Amino acid sequence: MLITKQRVQTNNLSKSQPTAVAVALGDGIGPEIMEATLNILESAGANIEPEYIELGKQVYLSGHSSGIEEDTWEVIKRNKVILKAPITTPQGRSYKSLNVTLRKSLGLFANIRPVCSLDPFVPTNHSKIDVVIIRENEEDLYAGIEHQQTQDVVQCLKLITRPGCEKIIRYAFQFAQAYGRKKVTCMVKDNIMKLTDGLFHRVFKEVASEYPEIENEVQIIDIGAARLAAHPERYDVVVTSNLYGDIISDIVAEVAGSVGLAGSANIGKEIAMFEAIHGSAPDIAGQNIANPSGLINAAIMMLAHIGQIDVADAIKNAWLATIEDGIHTADIFKDGWSKKKVSTKEFTNAIIERLGRKPKRLKASQLSAGSGIIEVQDYKRPIEKKTLVVVDIFIDWQGSDPKDMGDQLSNFSGEKMKLKMITNRGVKVYPTGQDYTFCTDHWRCRFVASEAKTNVSPPKYKAITFERLLSLLSELNQAGFDIIKTENLYEFNGRRGFSLGQGE
Ligand code: NAD
Repeated sequence: MLITKQRVQTNNLSKSQPTAVAVALGDGIGPEIMEATLNILESAGANIEPEYIELGKQVYLSGHSSGIEEDTWEVIKRNKVILKAPITTPQGRSYKSLNVTLRKSLGLFANIRPVCSLDPFVPTNHSKIDVVIIRENEEDLYAGIEHQQTQDVVQCLKLITRPGCEKIIRYAFQFAQAYGRKKVTCMVKDNIMKLTDGLFHRVFKEVASEYPEIENEVQIIDIGAARLAAHPERYDVVVTSNLYGDIISDIVAEVAGSVGLAGSANIGKEIAMFEAIHGSAPDIAGQNIANPSGLINAAIMMLAHIGQIDVADAIKNAWLATIEDGIHTADIFKDGWSKKKVSTKEFTNAIIERLGRKPKRLKASQLSAGSGIIEVQDYKRPIEKKTLVVVDIFIDWQGSDPKDMGDQLSNFSGEKMKLKMITNRGVKVYPTGQDYTFCTDHWRCRFVASEAKTNVSPPKYKAITFERLLSLLSELNQAGFDIIKTENLYEFNGRRGFSLGQGE
């Protein structure tokens, strides 16, 4: 079943039904840049029907700590496409970020940020950047699950899911195919995080094999980020998880010298939201000097998403021609470089005058180079046999000698369960370890069934019943151990579903 499908509309757009778009005017410079953007869209013949919604500062101040009213959700669900100007989040702990609320509530799993250099019209050391960063938008460390477990230790859960990987990676390949791109690069850190980033890597390889016409490569994120900064022109489409994507999309936008000009798309199963990357710029609001380019570029992505690719190309090319003609708003104006410093309205009119023109030196937009179709399959969960074989019991213990703790815990191994090892911050400290390892008050004690053979390679685990686990926990509790949490570890179809301790 398809979850997203967009097609190039080649027929006469004015004769087809307009696409409904929920439009948020935003705060600060929001209303000015939105007016500019909508004027350009109308002049270019975009076939959309805006329905205005209120998001942001006024909604927050009227008592909605989320920045959005219940009724607005209904408008969004009806329209399915949102064009959003930046909003102001009032200062103070009680106001939740509306952007995060929108992304997660609406299932906007893909964050798409294209970056292009506009050299020599916007200075950069790299004149040939044309890269699209596709970032997973809902999970990873941004799931926001954090806990303080002992006096010394806080944790943040990194959640990577197979459906999440499949959706974002398939979207990246579909995007490449739809817009005529040649290569997809995956960035991960699976030399360290073998399960989480390892899953992202594995799914990337699986999905890549379905697209033999698109080149694929995998890079470790640290060297990948360094190469992206040093040689951004070597990259085409990059797909990665949430945190890495957040970081590298800023790196590449900064390297291109055009952070303020970029637009972004947040794509979900049924709903998509398009916005500029910058904020509401309250310092220049109402002065008719703001640069509307970020929102214009977001609107171009919106038009491509709803299949109005010809209009998207026309607006992009008129915008490139305006930049190339040296007609610049104050934020990018440079003496001896730019030709004319213009207001928001003058910049808008200059783009409208250039509709139908292509840039002479900058690369013209050609979104129509690809198939224009993005299809993402719904996730089908395979049936696997899951067996509980190991239990990690985390204990808050104030002692300092791992041998003390290990010897005490070994007494609880009894007939049914036995202690296999103890780690501290992931490093094995019992039954053997290194004297130099620093130990906190957070101990992971790994227990297996007493029949398991753990001194062979690979270990032969045995199934643990829940009753065995409960009686061990109860014994430990009665003996005064402060159990913080237990992590049940499984084999899936006989494959180990957990990492080894360092030194295990
Ligand atoms: P900002 O991006 O609004 O402004 C940073 C600087 O860039 C300012 O000097 C501003 O004048 C300038 N600038 C930004 N956009 C410009 C444009 N289009 N044309 C010319 N100059 C521009 O960042 P900030 O000051 O940190 O944040 C202001 C408000 O925006 C805050 O309330 C923040 O929460 C909000 N914000 C919203 C979004 C969003 O809605 N997506 C994103 C980021 C920040």
